[in-house]
Amino acid sequence: MFGKKLAGYLIIITLPLTFAACDMRLKEGTITYAGMQNASKFWKPYEVKMNDSIVILEKQNARLVSKFSLRNFIATINLKTTGGAWGYVMFHTSGNSDSAVKGYKVLINNTDYRNGNPQKTGSLCLMRNNFVRTVTEDTWFELQVTVRANHITVKVNQNLISEYIEPDNPERIDGLEGMILSSGYIILQKSSDMGQFQVGEINIEALSADIAGEETDPSSPDLTAKALDELNQRGFPLIDFHGHLKGGLTVEEVCRHGRLHGYNYGISPNCGLNFPVTNDSALLDYFNVMKNEPVLKAMQCEGREWITLFTPVAISNFDYIFTDAMTWTDHKGRRMRLWIPEETFVDNEQQFMEMLVGKIEAILNQEPVDIHVNPTYLPGIIAADYQRLWTPERMDRVIKALKDNDVALEINARFKIPSIEFIKRARKAGVKFTFGTNNAGNNDLNRLEYCLEAIREAGLTPEDIFLPRPAGDKKVLKKGLPSKITG
Ligand SMILES: [Zn+2]
Repeated sequence: MFGKKLAGYLIIITLPLTFAACDMRLKEGTITYAGMQNASKFWKPYEVKMNDSIVILEKQNARLVSKFSLRNFIATINLKTTGGAWGYVMFHTSGNSDSAVKGYKVLINNTDYRNGNPQKTGSLCLMRNNFVRTVTEDTWFELQVTVRANHITVKVNQNLISEYIEPDNPERIDGLEGMILSSGYIILQKSSDMGQFQVGEINIEALSADIAGEETDPSSPDLTAKALDELNQRGFPLIDFHGHLKGGLTVEEVCRHGRLHGYNYGISPNCGLNFPVTNDSALLDYFNVMKNEPVLKAMQCEGREWITLFTPVAISNFDYIFTDAMTWTDHKGRRMRLWIPEETFVDNEQQFMEMLVGKIEAILNQEPVDIHVNPTYLPGIIAADYQRLWTPERMDRVIKALKDNDVALEINARFKIPSIEFIKRARKAGVKFTFGTNNAGNNDLNRLEYCLEAIREAGLTPEDIFLPRPAGDKKVLKKGLPSKITG
């Protein structure tokens, strides 16, 4: 919308950056329009093109540096990204983007999944990383960063994406020691050499420097909290890909849980015979309700009949789809649901295991899913013999089917499966992983404890973690649905 007005008006401004003795003060409690009509009053531009209504950042490291320094504030910035451009809004900085890290960074990156930086807009980088894309390129959006004493919040189009309450003695890995709250300059910087940032209105509200901090837990963080914080600081994708809105649990509650502990969620309905979602129209209704929520949109494909109930085009709206091998029909024609003792028949445990492994192979070979969830789950009657029944040969058959079909393996936080040994073998074979809880209600969200153990024990790295496929690369569109059910 701003772009057309501009043609012919752009001039390139490059000014040396000098800060000393020229700080301006913003009046507390009032909103200052620091948009482009007043740009040169409030910002020092570096390698940007600007006119009265818009600023374009195109070159790598092009930036606007505030002439004012702030402790507490609300900064609301309207912008648009194109062509793979990404960069940051940084605050509490020294004013020099090349200096050692001081202050925090909020990411601006609207590239599709598996393109560019895996973190997306609204990420409070390396503290509360965000991997959910809520804005597409070529679209104007509003980014709002707020600092009130020890509480940082980041909103995108009014959606709370990330927040962080800095504790009294924050722990930082080497190199991030300066990533703490103080006061300083705001910098809007483009960090890639591709595409553009187009910047429209900017409003800054300076807040009192004397706001009281929010109470933080006086006890030192436990090992799980420390592990989650450290993985965030290393940029590790922390996502619970397998959440459900069950037992009255709301999206807001799930997201709050994730923000508090430092990870994202993927949320899915259960789709299949005798489940809440049984056709395209219900599937699309669900998708439309969830469309703007800051979670990954997933579809859980249930039973083996799901392939007959939905069309590839409807399915392809979702960021990813997944299924398990807990529902299938045995050699005597009994449709079993392995988590229900009355519906599960283990006449002979070895024969049962051979059938189970065969079913997993068939599902992975035929059904175009992205993730195999609740993997290696055994019914209660033989669950205690997991280590003995999941022989290396059986593990390797499943691992081969995962690898052959490019299906990621869920590390399930609730059931604590598959075994660490299985995960190590799968990693060696190059299988990708997801983390998932598969919560059964509104009070069994955990903190991915078993997944953290797996990361540690199997030495998982960020590259081992599955990320959603971009639009146009959906498996269900490329592979289609099988003509008959796996059974
Ligand atoms: Zn589930």
